[in-house]
Amino acid sequence: MLDLKELVRPNILKLSPYSSARDDFKGDASIWLDANENPFGELNRYPDPYQCELKKVLAEYNGVDTTQLFIGNGSDEVIDLLFRLFVKPGTDKALTFSPTYGMYRVSADINDAELIEVPLDQKFQIDLTATIPYLDDFNLKLIFICSPNNPTGNLLRNSDIEMLLNRFKGIVVIDEAYIDFADVPSWNQRLKEYDNLIVTQTFSKARGLAAARLGIAFSNSEIISLLNKIKPPYNVSTLNQAAGLRSMKNQRDFELQIKQIKSERSRLIKELKLLSMVKRIFPSHTNFLLIEIENATEIYLQLTRRGIVVRDRSKLIPNALRISIGTENENTLLLNELKKISQ
Ligand SMILES: *Cc1c(COP(=O)(O)O)cnc(C)c1O
Repeated sequence: MLDLKELVRPNILKLSPYSSARDDFKGDASIWLDANENPFGELNRYPDPYQCELKKVLAEYNGVDTTQLFIGNGSDEVIDLLFRLFVKPGTDKALTFSPTYGMYRVSADINDAELIEVPLDQKFQIDLTATIPYLDDFNLKLIFICSPNNPTGNLLRNSDIEMLLNRFKGIVVIDEAYIDFADVPSWNQRLKEYDNLIVTQTFSKARGLAAARLGIAFSNSEIISLLNKIKPPYNVSTLNQAAGLRSMKNQRDFELQIKQIKSERSRLIKELKLLSMVKRIFPSHTNFLLIEIENATEIYLQLTRRGIVVRDRSKLIPNALRISIGTENENTLLLNELKKISQ
């Protein structure tokens, strides 16, 4: 059994959370004079601090209870809150597998926590032998596993993740920002098996709502209530909650877009393979492709001069560019420019 009292920072266990007007009175009423809101206007009322309507739909969609759901102002907020919940500044540590998503490093630095980066192996999988010695460190509180991983694009092996979940006495966070492109079930289906598991997802990628800043954490209800305790009271705006709801109610467009993006992903792979300067295309379970290309930084610069911006990842992986899958037209224009550059 997970001993949350041992894992959570003592000041958070002791914390009396902010009590908002909406916490003090929850029922229905016709006259609201309790939150110093302006009585005029369209957006004059504070948002629902617990996003109940959106959570109801999300819970149903994912087959979990609403108490197993937390919604953040993007998953970046969730990542930061997890540091604040579990990692004592100056003392505690987190661990991740590099190269990976940059926010784990930034959040660790902001929270004055050591971040151990264990390099992924040649196939961008977890190197268990290199990882195991860290697991017994009493100050190691959080492990971040990004799967499918950004920027490498691959899924991490289930058996390795299971091993970490079983063996590590702290919290394992699986960041599933790209899960909807991956054709595998979410780890949120396995919350019952692991009380130290937190799964994060986002509306920013497959749901096309990066502007709305909606991130989700799935976990057991104890961890979720701790996150609720420390979050800013009104962390998700009414406009953004409504945007999330609209997306959940329009499953058809969501599925159609994923289908299109995946088919464009296949086409890009096929076409890129024909270019001799493209040395390697890494397998992708995401909406981007990581490619190895001759003189990556030079190609990157040439593309920007032609108005096309990809991501130069060659500091992380030699000669690597990360290319988000665009519309059919955008991808064709990219391919045309690459062909011109290669001549
Ligand atoms: C894009 C991305 C996110 C999204 O973060 P938001 O704050 O929800 O926009 C999270 N994790 C990874 C690995 C990502 O690539």
